[in-house]
Amino acid sequence: MTEDPPKRRTLSLKPGVQVTRPLGPQPLTPLRADKPGRPPRAPRPESPPKTVERPTHGWKCKPCGAFFDPPAEGPDDEVVRCPDCNARIGVAGDFRQTPPPARLRARPMRH
Ligand SMILES: [Zn+2]
Repeated sequence: MTEDPPKRRTLSLKPGVQVTRPLGPQPLTPLRADKPGRPPRAPRPESPPKTVERPTHGWKCKPCGAFFDPPAEGPDDEVVRCPDCNARIGVAGDFRQTPPPARLRARPMRH
């Protein structure tokens, strides 16, 4: 066995190139270095958009929190349902009582 291992040419740096820093793992940079003071999450995603500006929405549905208006006219025993979740809020007459009865599943928003 007289096989000589093939000689490999030694890689050499090009003349004039200086190694200024050793190659290796880069130091870890903190992930939050882009913007300090940035909140981790949205502050309140459940805040309703300010699209309803009409002052006629004087009641708020207790089950779902939607704003609505009871019928201004009609019989007192007319069933009022939430336009959003369709929950039975009460009857029209309940909205005309002051204060509203406890069975009414809505809150007056006017003060
Ligand atoms: Zn509702």
